[in-house]
Amino acid sequence: MERTFLAVKPDGVKRGMVGEILSRFEKLGLKIVGMKMVWVDEDLLRKHYDKDEAWFEKVGTRSLEFWKENGKDPNEDLGTDDPIKLGKMIHQWLLDFMKSGPVVAMVLEGPGSVEIVKKHVGPTYPIDAPPGTIRGDYTYDSPTLSAFGRRAVYNLVHCSGVPIEAEFEIGLWFKEHELFEYQK
Ligand code: ADP
Repeated sequence: MERTFLAVKPDGVKRGMVGEILSRFEKLGLKIVGMKMVWVDEDLLRKHYDKDEAWFEKVGTRSLEFWKENGKDPNEDLGTDDPIKLGKMIHQWLLDFMKSGPVVAMVLEGPGSVEIVKKHVGPTYPIDAPPGTIRGDYTYDSPTLSAFGRRAVYNLVHCSGVPIEAEFEIGLWFKEHELFEYQK
C-alpha cells in the first residue's frame, strides 16, 4: 500500500471544485485516509516548497519562453530577464497564492497511488495539460497569463511527485492521529 499527498489549492477551493476533484479519486478507487481544510502559514509553505537554485532556473527559464513567445520584454514588465531572479520572484508569488485562501489537504491510499494521482493531476501548466486531467479539464492558465498578473500559475491542485516526497509531505501536513485505517 502506498500513500500520497494531495492538496486542493486556494483557486480550487474558491471555485468550488473540491467535490469534483475528490470524487474523481474516490471513483478511481483510492482510499481517503486523511483530509482537512487549512489556512497555511509561510513557515509550513517554505518547508513544503523548499526549492533550490535549479528549480528557480527551470521555472524562470520556462516563464521567459512563454513571455518571449508573446513578443513581450520581461525587463520592461517584470524588471528582469534573469531566469534565477525570475524564478525567485515566482516562488514568492507561489507562497502568496498558497496563503490567499484555505487549502483542502488530503492523503490518498492505494497501490502505486503517487504515480496514479500524478497522472490524473496532469502537468504543472494547465495550458500543456491534456484533456482528461484535472489541470487540463478545469482551467487553461499558463506562465504568460500568470506573469501578466504577477502571480503563480493557478492549477487547482498540488500532488506529491515521488514516494519519498509523499512521505515527507504527509508528515509535514498531517499528524499521526489525523490519519485513519479502515476497511473499504
Ligand atoms: P508542480 O506543482 O506541478 O509539482 P512545481 O513544483 O514545479 O510544479 O511548481 C510549484 C507551483 O509553482 C506550480 O504548481 C505553480 O502553481 C507554480 N509555478 C510553477 N512554475 C511557474 C511559473 N513559471 N510561473 C508561475 N507560477 C509557476
